[in-house]
Amino acid sequence: MSNLSAAASNLGALDAAHHIHPFSDMQKLNAAGTRIIERGEGCYIFDNHGKKYLDGFAGLWCVNVGYGRKEITEAVMRQMNELPYYNTFFGTTTPPTVLLAQKITSHAGPNINRVFFTGSGSEANDTWFRMARVYWATLGKPEKKMVIARRNGYHGSTVVGASLGGMKYMHEQGALPIEGIVHIGQPYWYGEGADLSPAEFGLKVARELEAKIDELGEDNVAAFVAEPIQGAGGVIVPPETYWPEIARICKARNILLVVDEVICGFGRTGQWFGHQHFGVEPDLAPIAKGLSSGYLPIGGVMVSDRVGEVLVNEVGDFNHGFTYSGHPVCAAAALENLRIIEDEKLVERVRDDVGPYLAAGLKSLEDHPMVGQTQCVGLMAAVQLVEDKADRKRFEDKEKAGIEVRNHCLANGLVLRATGDRMLYSPPLVISRSEIDDMITITRNGLDHAWKVMQG
Ligand code: PMP
Repeated sequence: MSNLSAAASNLGALDAAHHIHPFSDMQKLNAAGTRIIERGEGCYIFDNHGKKYLDGFAGLWCVNVGYGRKEITEAVMRQMNELPYYNTFFGTTTPPTVLLAQKITSHAGPNINRVFFTGSGSEANDTWFRMARVYWATLGKPEKKMVIARRNGYHGSTVVGASLGGMKYMHEQGALPIEGIVHIGQPYWYGEGADLSPAEFGLKVARELEAKIDELGEDNVAAFVAEPIQGAGGVIVPPETYWPEIARICKARNILLVVDEVICGFGRTGQWFGHQHFGVEPDLAPIAKGLSSGYLPIGGVMVSDRVGEVLVNEVGDFNHGFTYSGHPVCAAAALENLRIIEDEKLVERVRDDVGPYLAAGLKSLEDHPMVGQTQCVGLMAAVQLVEDKADRKRFEDKEKAGIEVRNHCLANGLVLRATGDRMLYSPPLVISRSEIDDMITITRNGLDHAWKVMQG
């Protein structure tokens, strides 16, 4: 037996002994054992026991074109053979890097014409954070450097990313947020809207931004950052009044609007970018995930002309960058991924066909006593679990409600994510109507099971 196959027969034990997983209580995980995923095809993944799962979560919100796309692996192999690595630091670039920058901007609005590449979404957030401060300092306003973000937002796990994020459980580890980052409320009407209508609540939380800018002083604030639709926070789709008001405030108070497109970008919402769904124009927009459908790690920041002209023509050296900025093999994978999205018209498919179909399927679950609301934009959706929908009363143990549904679905071959008492959906954009039917059926069974458990 080769060393490799000997090791493979014992992977669970080796994982427990040597591998620290992200966002995990390792003691509990080691006791329970990890699931070993060996293979993927289309919208399905297969574990080491041969069990097949419908991946309702596209890996981690990223496998937009589905698993097993040979076109991407072949593009990667070609680039690997041609040039596996070169940097973009010292006056050099590589063909796929250039072509990718052009391709990305061709799908953004007319005011976005430049991209800075990173290796991940977190690095993309660190990058725009520095760009925003450099932008204002170059314009003679070095004091304009505070950033306003949102509670329950998610922007990554680096020190800046976790600080921008509004996750208390992350801030508690490592003395975060860092200085210069403050948070306002989130547009989560179902959980926090009380007696206001969604429209009223959307305006109310948007205006927290105005109040915070006043409190800090406009001359001290560089930017506001938000996800078009909060992802990790629970797929919270804001009321319609929210984004236009945010855009108005940023403009009126002369602060940069940063829209985190790491999840919402590349077709997830039925537009190329989430901000296009809401009709707003960002000054800076971090991207990752669907850019390469997760086949290789790559992220970036889309830079508007407003910031780009200053960064390119006035700053001089921008002292920032990563060894893997514009990595040629990752760029080749991303280019081929975007070609597939274009040629197979996946964005239009999400907007006109499978997106509305998923929305209707989820809506049909609203007759279930445990479902308070469903929200769905494109192929990004949430089911809000409730104890009593009459008065939007949520379960005392929100985690348990979500975990019961999630585990039942998993046992029945469907991967979903639970964030507290919200079930999250983000399947590959290539999902079929019959696969969506399966997701809905398995979810309903999971709800029936969890409802019984939660009733005691
Ligand atoms: N921003 C958003 C909106 C995200 O959802 C994520 C990851 N889930 C990140 C940033 C961080 O990306 P990464 O994990 O690639 O660093």
